[in-house]
Amino acid sequence: MTTPDLTRNDFGADKRTGEVWRLDCGQCKKRTNHKVLRSVTHDWETIDIVGRADYTIVRCMGCEQVSYCTRSSNSEDTNPYNGESEINTIQYPEGSIEHNSISLPYATPFEIRNAYNETSKALSLQVNTLGAIGTRLIVELICKAEGGKGRILSDRIESLLSQGVINQDVADTIHCVRFFGNDAVHEYKVKNQELNTAWDTVNMLISYIYGSRDSKEFLMTASREAKLAASRAKKSGT
Ligand SMILES: [Zn+2]
Repeated sequence: MTTPDLTRNDFGADKRTGEVWRLDCGQCKKRTNHKVLRSVTHDWETIDIVGRADYTIVRCMGCEQVSYCTRSSNSEDTNPYNGESEINTIQYPEGSIEHNSISLPYATPFEIRNAYNETSKALSLQVNTLGAIGTRLIVELICKAEGGKGRILSDRIESLLSQGVINQDVADTIHCVRFFGNDAVHEYKVKNQELNTAWDTVNMLISYIYGSRDSKEFLMTASREAKLAASRAKKSGT
């Protein structure tokens, strides 16, 4: 392994100590404020890249659990949309988010039901990359089951919109899950917060499409039974 040609290589103690960061807490099962108890900051620079890594011991300000966290960034790794530095976070023990599962509406097709239950199991075991891929698969299956047409997923989502199966807000939200699933498959990188949002979106989508079908079915059955009861009552003269 070759040593990088660093023009700057400084280690500073406690530059982050006392700061409060928003991080996932495995105990609280949500994102909470964490206080940095101790830190070592590594500032480095090559001829064309500047970078920084903070190695810290942090404590959750909710449950007081102490954990380890590294946050790093460099001038090469920027968000293409806003130009801001991407911060890479590694935590130990890994922070986890509670994944709520809904009770699936009766109208939910079998293959979607299957994918949902397996993905939910992966998420509850913190197998997050598979959970992310499963989340995207559910979106694919919903588009297929609802007659979404087109070669790629984004076309199929747009086709559901033009057929009136979903509205513009729902379409925009599913497009976000589509991007998210892509990243999980191609870059093997899953962020808890984004995964949580994607899973919430899948829950919303299933309730939106299949929950309303359950209500329609219920109302039709109830009205049929009411009519039958009324005609029976008429016949018996009561
Ligand atoms: Zn906590």
